[in-house]
Amino acid sequence: MSVFVSGATGFIAQHIVNDLLQQNYKVIGTARSQEKVDKLIKQFGNNKNFSMEIVKDVADINAFDDVFKRRGSEIKYVLHTASPFHFNVTDAEKDLLIPAVNGTKGILSSIKKYAPKNVERFVVTSSFAAVSDLEDQSNSNVIYTEKDWCKLNWQTAQANAVAAYWGSKTFAEKAAWEFLEENKDSVSLKITAINPVYVFGPQLFDEDVTAKLNTSCEFINSLVHSTPETKVEKTCAGNFIDVRDVSKAHILAFQKEETIGKRLILSEGPFGMQDIVNTLNKDFPQLKGKIAPTYEETDVKLNKNFAKINNDETKKILGFKFRTFDETVDDTAKQILRVEKRL
Ligand code: NDP
Repeated sequence: MSVFVSGATGFIAQHIVNDLLQQNYKVIGTARSQEKVDKLIKQFGNNKNFSMEIVKDVADINAFDDVFKRRGSEIKYVLHTASPFHFNVTDAEKDLLIPAVNGTKGILSSIKKYAPKNVERFVVTSSFAAVSDLEDQSNSNVIYTEKDWCKLNWQTAQANAVAAYWGSKTFAEKAAWEFLEENKDSVSLKITAINPVYVFGPQLFDEDVTAKLNTSCEFINSLVHSTPETKVEKTCAGNFIDVRDVSKAHILAFQKEETIGKRLILSEGPFGMQDIVNTLNKDFPQLKGKIAPTYEETDVKLNKNFAKINNDETKKILGFKFRTFDETVDDTAKQILRVEKRL
């Protein structure tokens, strides 16, 4: 039986596919075009346990029908990672909200139609965006847990690009839980949601280190390429987690019984852009003097002006220690510098 990974070309999904193959699972991945399918198959060395299918656009509610009709009987676990993650929004509904929500509704409806009994577990890559509220982010009295939900509605989610992304993840995750409630008698699957904060870490393949990286790693990439004149915010930018831990959590999410019905907040702690700069200056002598300068007094160190996260329940369920800030920043930067022959 196989594990199905939607959006296998993504930054996080490539690590998941790699870890699954190392654990000897058969993996079926999806990508939007034949070109992307061919590239990934080649990058994974034509691994006999890895096959790929084209799913052109998850905004099409029937996008997953064809693949589940043909291969649904092979699939036991589904990891749904495909969803747009960017802030280049001209039309909030078209660019983010509809693809995210239809993607989740569509894949679940294809499972119901073509693999209702053999798909046992469904892991949806949601986000901490589905947990937190944008206006509370700088409220130091707020402590988020796995029980919290972003309060945006379809209308308020269209206020700007960030709200649209927050809304896209919130409504997509809600769609999964609602599907289960409405269809619990007609499908076998159990759901786990993965709610990561900003995900850093190396790209799985060096050849994917291009001038611009995926949205979250671009935070680090932009600072590796900053100048001494770059103006860096000293405040908290969010929380971080390493991609290798996110991958591990997706796999444990379908392997463990304790994850059933849970939302898992993946976060190791807060960070600010200045903290990234400080780590780069500390650990890479070749960058010192060439990038933005170090300031020790950041809001994160002073521990003020931002909401906190209590993800003790997630940590207890998963049972492994997350990578540190320095490790994830260093490994991301090391790969960029190696590819640019500056290491
Ligand atoms: P990537 O942009 O690298 O991956 C996104 C994946 O979704 C790609 O495979 C992409 O395909 C696919 N995709 C996007 N839009 C569509 C569409 N309309 N139709 C079909 N496929 C589509 O981002 P990440 O790996 O960072 O994100 C993966 C998941 O993790 C997303 O659900 C994201 O919301 C979530 N997440 C990410 C965080 C982060 O900090 N990185 C934090 C929290 C959650 P293609 O390669 O062709 O563009």
